[in-house]
Amino acid sequence: MKKRAVFLDRDGTLNADSPYASRYEQIAVYPESYEAAKKSNRAGLLAVVSPTQSPLGRGPLTEDGLNDIHDRLRASFADHGARLDAVYFCPHYSQSTDPRYRAECDCRKPNPGLALRAAAELGIELRQSYMIGDKTEDILFGMNIRAEPVLVLTGSGRESLTKLREQGIEPAFVAETILEAADWVLDRERRKAHDPL
Ligand SMILES: [Mg+2]
Ligand SMILES: [Zn+2]
Repeated sequence: MKKRAVFLDRDGTLNADSPYASRYEQIAVYPESYEAAKKSNRAGLLAVVSPTQSPLGRGPLTEDGLNDIHDRLRASFADHGARLDAVYFCPHYSQSTDPRYRAECDCRKPNPGLALRAAAELGIELRQSYMIGDKTEDILFGMNIRAEPVLVLTGSGRESLTKLREQGIEPAFVAETILEAADWVLDRERRKAHDPL
């Protein structure tokens, strides 16, 4: 049977906005994020982190440095009894001065590439999955992969909600925090179990 996943944006969703963090010490995880991940784990949903922005090719951060940040982020969740199952990020930036990362790609949100790769590698049913994030790109990404898009009002969430509504787009749910978003997801899961489509 295919798995379901909760795709989680990083900055402004799991942790305070820090798009140009070059060290793990610069990342402040929201305390609610640990509980949100734990609840998703218990419900049998994969927690897949998919950051919006890649700082590679724009500053001193290397791909090894970014992988180290993500390894330590996952270790921090493990220390709190929670599991982040995977991290998928787009390393590209069309204006990058580094030719390794200079590309127009299909994996920069809201393009679906990251989710398609995660789905193929981890066996995820995207239509039964969720996307939680604070930017318009996160919501559009969720819609593009046919997952249920949930907007959090942390990070850039409030500005994003205004922008989305100006375009006539309404997320499946709007949550104050990632924990409220996870509670909504679990409630959806319970309803689906009782009343399968
Ligand atoms: Mg974000
Ligand atoms: Zn990319």
